[in-house]
Amino acid sequence: MSKANDILKLSPQQFVLFLKENDIHRFYFVYDAQQNQVKSSHSQLEPIAEFIQADRRDFMQHEGLFFQISPRYDALQGAFVHRTHRGQAAGGVRYWQYNTMEDYLRDGLRLSKGMTRKNALAGLWWGGGKGVMAHNPAVEKNDPEVRKALYHEYGAFMTSLCGCYVTAEDVGTIVADMANIFSQTRFTTCIPETLGGSGNPSVPTARGVIRGMEAALHVSGEESLNGKTVAVQGMGNVGGPLIRFLFKKGVKKIIAGDINPALVERLKNEFRDKNFDAGVVDRGDNSILKSDCDILSPCATGAMLNPQTIPLINAKIICGAANNQLEDAERDDRLLHEKGIIYVPDFLTNRMGIVNCANEQYGYVNNDPEIERHLSRDWEFSIFQTSLKVLKISRETGEAPAKVALKMADKLSLENHPIFGHRGQKIIDSLIANEWQKRGNAINVSVVFKSRK
Ligand code: NAD
Repeated sequence: MSKANDILKLSPQQFVLFLKENDIHRFYFVYDAQQNQVKSSHSQLEPIAEFIQADRRDFMQHEGLFFQISPRYDALQGAFVHRTHRGQAAGGVRYWQYNTMEDYLRDGLRLSKGMTRKNALAGLWWGGGKGVMAHNPAVEKNDPEVRKALYHEYGAFMTSLCGCYVTAEDVGTIVADMANIFSQTRFTTCIPETLGGSGNPSVPTARGVIRGMEAALHVSGEESLNGKTVAVQGMGNVGGPLIRFLFKKGVKKIIAGDINPALVERLKNEFRDKNFDAGVVDRGDNSILKSDCDILSPCATGAMLNPQTIPLINAKIICGAANNQLEDAERDDRLLHEKGIIYVPDFLTNRMGIVNCANEQYGYVNNDPEIERHLSRDWEFSIFQTSLKVLKISRETGEAPAKVALKMADKLSLENHPIFGHRGQKIIDSLIANEWQKRGNAINVSVVFKSRK
């Protein structure tokens, strides 16, 4: 097998077999900025390096992509380090099933780049990265013993990477998994509260969404949520508290939908004295987007904003917590803008998840000012101020808001950490110089330490 197309069409499990046939257990792709070239650890993997290098959609000069075959269950485990100027790459590890290697690689490239932007726009001194672990269909995903082994291995994998990537919780990964990762590495956040972690970030995330809504109202010449009608898609960990905050802010009416009947019943009961029009919907039912409302708040899944749904939207503002609300970031951002809808980019308003856990190793203060300032109205990097800045520039330049926010984030992401500079790149260079791909976890760490003496 040689051509990129052949390899990229393989499922992750077929690819694992290919790796084993070639006696490859760990491998990497790193970007050499001087030569403007993606280099691979093994000549057999050169076609993938060429594919990454040529890609214009998801690849953005990612500093390093590292992979291993999980020793026990043959799952492909990866760490995508996008940019580390502002600090070590931070972002969660996704545990997901992928049909092809192309899907797997693209997800990691796209999500890690997204974390760079989210972290930079939040003013955090962290770079951006993402973990992606492909589910091996031959093993039972929810078996606690399997998960324990997989996440132990992922933790050891983090240790082997010497901190160029610091992992966290993400889709498919649960708190118990984080405890297993933490048992093997210091390079993780989002650990359980019982082990000194920061806990569930959903309530701060809901508060962040409120701030985004207030900024959008402000640029429309309105000062408050009082008297508004808001439609909320998804009443889960973020949507539920959001509805509570909105009623406290004096909204006139909330229209809401969720696929979970028990949840809908519970919230209908909680808000029975309010003007709360909630209902159970089928998965894939996006009719809530047509609601007669001032603000639409997507708090369920992604990609609901697309050429089919955008023409149906009556709201003047869209602001919610769901990740990747735009099906196609550039196209749908522009479509909303052309329709005169103010879209507050999701990666700006839903930052409190990463803000809450990113600095947990520095300890906690009650009502932590380091966290609260993101929710203030005056700090320059607060959700409110950043949203205002983005929406004002969008008005002045005619550029759609997500595009403005991305440009701002990309510029910020190239600022070096005030103390450590671009240390993540040095860690990557050191891993490569020490032939990380040839070593087991413990050996690798000792070799790197020895070389630093
Ligand atoms: P959650 O799973 O607790 O809630 C999502 C809710 O949406 C669930 O109640 C689910 O039943 C419902 N839902 C799913 N599909 C639906 C559909 N088609 N129509 C209506 N309802 C539907 O998740 P969450 O923690 O509340 O997060 C919501 C979104 O915000 C997700 O996209 C998540 O990635 C994103 N986000 C969350 C946080 C956080 O702090 N929790 C941080 C950043 C981003």
